[in-house]
Amino acid sequence: MYNVKSLKAEEFISDEEIKETLEYAEANKNNIGLIDAIIEKAKLKKGLTHREASVLLACEIPEKLDEVYKLAQQIKKDFYGNRIVLFAPLYLSNYCVNGCVYCPYHMKNKHIARKKLTQEEIVKEVTALQDMGHKRLAIEAGEDPVNNPIEYILECINTIYSIKHKNGAIRRVNVNIAATTVENYRKLKEAGIGTYILFQETYHKESYEQLHPTGPKHDYAYHTEAMDRAMEGGIDDVGLGVLFGLDKYKYEFAGLLMHAEHLEAVHGVGPHTISVPRIKHADDIDPDVFDNGISDDTFAKICALIRISVPYTGMIISTRESQTVREKVLPLGVSQISGASKTSVGGYADPEAEKNAEATSEQFDVSDQRTLDEVVNWLMKMDYIPSFCTACYREGRTGDRFMALCKSMQILNCCHPNALMTLKEYLEDYASPQTRELGMKLIDREIEKITNPKVKQTCYEHIHDIADGKRDFRF
Ligand code: SF4
Ligand code: SF4
Repeated sequence: MYNVKSLKAEEFISDEEIKETLEYAEANKNNIGLIDAIIEKAKLKKGLTHREASVLLACEIPEKLDEVYKLAQQIKKDFYGNRIVLFAPLYLSNYCVNGCVYCPYHMKNKHIARKKLTQEEIVKEVTALQDMGHKRLAIEAGEDPVNNPIEYILECINTIYSIKHKNGAIRRVNVNIAATTVENYRKLKEAGIGTYILFQETYHKESYEQLHPTGPKHDYAYHTEAMDRAMEGGIDDVGLGVLFGLDKYKYEFAGLLMHAEHLEAVHGVGPHTISVPRIKHADDIDPDVFDNGISDDTFAKICALIRISVPYTGMIISTRESQTVREKVLPLGVSQISGASKTSVGGYADPEAEKNAEATSEQFDVSDQRTLDEVVNWLMKMDYIPSFCTACYREGRTGDRFMALCKSMQILNCCHPNALMTLKEYLEDYASPQTRELGMKLIDREIEKITNPKVKQTCYEHIHDIADGKRDFRF
């Protein structure tokens, strides 16, 4: 039976409730009165329930969808402004004991190159990432208690935070590792991580079990209840996501929102971020064998609906998506993107070795292959502020403290000046002359938009301090 507050996966992600939701949505997809009422509710910017959002997802009336897209753009502006936070994934190890059929790291894949970074190699990777200008990483590792135990992950986090190279520093490490115990989550919290990210892959239990035939990840309940354990372990910023293409997108969408509602109901804090990856080609993996793939238009619709359903939750899109798709969904609600990503183990310090190797260690093909400078330049040309901000968790703005600011739309007062100051650092230390010129003009323009005179003055001063060689200012 459906119970949003239950701690049992099958009750807070109730299959029965999802099926009823989808029936309700299908029955009401042309019900203009209801659709208008849902859109009006969304305009209050307090979000929608999974049932309401599912009706809009089922709706195919062009004028109503236009309204949804416009509202998504407005909500994105109101909550996040025009900053886009940049990050990079860092693959630590692709040893994995699981059998996920959509991932080339699955245990039975014998022709992929298996690698695990040593601490010396991590120094090289992180130095290469710092030389690009990155300040925020998401570390990734397969599940393997022998090769990648929690002690290894903790040691890596410690190493990453300790590397200071020229003016570079990694200031926030988000962690994407397998579901684990409360005790291990506590250790991650103590190591000073930002967000704990774990993709559900699919909320459909039967499909989940088929797609994860072997290994500890086969256990649907243990995986689905991971965020509750993470929160019990003190991690109050968690990131959800499904891998679109594995099962029917309408089912996944309802499940994703139910998961968000569950976290809010039980812990008082919804997800910090939602990621929207789509299945991609990789070694040993042909995305065409999964017949639930979604078109770019459906993908954009999902992004817009997530934006209006959970306005306070950041939305992440990776380099799995092409420049064109990224341009399409950025205005609809995406607040964070990866840039210049390598999805192989050791790919930053030595990209040539990966290219020339007999066997790849990549997790998936990257569609957007541009350099970070190109990504920064591209964002600014579209009038976004590329941001390397990591301020919130360093200022203790996590969990409900963060959510309170976000829900009242005050977080923008921090995001905007922080974006300008971290962009200024990037321009001083890493940008090409052309990007630098574009960025200086953008900062001059954007600083004038700060309405609070005190914040504006402080931001001015720090921008000058940064030009004088000082670093790491934040609101
Ligand atoms: S998705 Fe994760 S758990 Fe599954 S095989 Fe790949 S690395 Fe391992
Ligand atoms: S101020 Fe907080 S929410 Fe805004 S970009 Fe920085 S870390 Fe993110």
